[in-house]
Amino acid sequence: MTQKTEILSLFPEELRDLLQERGIAGYRAGQIYAWFYRGIRSFEEMTDLPRDLRSRLDADFTIESFREEACVASRLDETRKYLFTLSDGEYVESVLLSYKHGYSVCLSTQAGCRMGCRFCASTGAGFSRNLRPSEILEQIAAITRERRREDPSFRVSHVVLMGIGEPLDNYENVLRFLKLVNRKEGFGISFRNISLSTCGLVPRIRDLAKEDLPVTLSVSLHAPNDALRDSMMPVNKRYPLEELIPACRDYTRKTGRRISFEYALIHGVNDTDRCAGELIALLSGWMNHVNLIPVNETDETAYHAGTRKELLAFQSKLERGGLNATIRRTLGADIAAACGQLRRKKGTEKG
Ligand code: SAH
Repeated sequence: MTQKTEILSLFPEELRDLLQERGIAGYRAGQIYAWFYRGIRSFEEMTDLPRDLRSRLDADFTIESFREEACVASRLDETRKYLFTLSDGEYVESVLLSYKHGYSVCLSTQAGCRMGCRFCASTGAGFSRNLRPSEILEQIAAITRERRREDPSFRVSHVVLMGIGEPLDNYENVLRFLKLVNRKEGFGISFRNISLSTCGLVPRIRDLAKEDLPVTLSVSLHAPNDALRDSMMPVNKRYPLEELIPACRDYTRKTGRRISFEYALIHGVNDTDRCAGELIALLSGWMNHVNLIPVNETDETAYHAGTRKELLAFQSKLERGGLNATIRRTLGADIAAACGQLRRKKGTEKG
């Protein structure tokens, strides 16, 4: 049996070509997209297509569709966390965040992760596979479907690839997703409203710079020297700071976009005066930004967050050293909105 083609991973012109090869008029592609964005997932329900065309499409094509396994809403703010079941039974998590400037979604790019960062909940549950472009898109679509039941004008305006997985470890699919989500036939989300977060896969950062898409790059730094970063993030042994930082500087030079460095403060580990000094030496003199986050305490790590006062003190040390440092607002604190935790729980139940 030949595999059916997944429509949502195709660019509109690719779908039009495939339809035309089958003697089907190209404009049918536009009708199919319109149904998809209205929340319809089966060709059978696309009632402005002739009946015989619907069954022909059904024989050759599929449209990605997730089942919503769980949705947890925060009582503190409008954050909602979703667990979705993929067609092969894998799970992914996505988070909806509400800001003054609109709704932002935090999406997963892999089922699991193979980067092994010690503090991260996503790694604990192991790696299963890469997500297809359609599966990254469908997270936005599924959240939109769920929200529109209450608010028909709901619309996602911002995307962050900061959920489960390492986006640059699934480079081709993520790149295709970025281009698809930007298309007017799709969600039409501007590249400037998209952030991609990476633990630092240097060759792929250099590839992304060549694409020249104005997406914001976030780099999960978390440590200002190799010894410490090696102990927290195995990726640093492959791509140490002396390779990572020049790649980041080149990215900024090439794209004109300021990189945001994520730094999760861990009490007694990376929040010392010495670390602040090293961070200043590493990042001063070029265009960047440090985003401080209190580490999210997960069950199996011994890492702890410091007090609010210590966080503010670390921030002002960086600022006095000339860096641009902000503290990330914690949303959805009551629902463990940090990704990886629901999927892992599910994995434990299964096993
Ligand atoms: N793989 C990508 C994106 C996924 S993680 C990356 O590494 O950037 C999204 C962000 O959450 C990263 O900055 C990651 O380092 C951070 N993170 C993971 N576990 C965390 C924890 N326990 N506390 C705070 N931040 C965490």
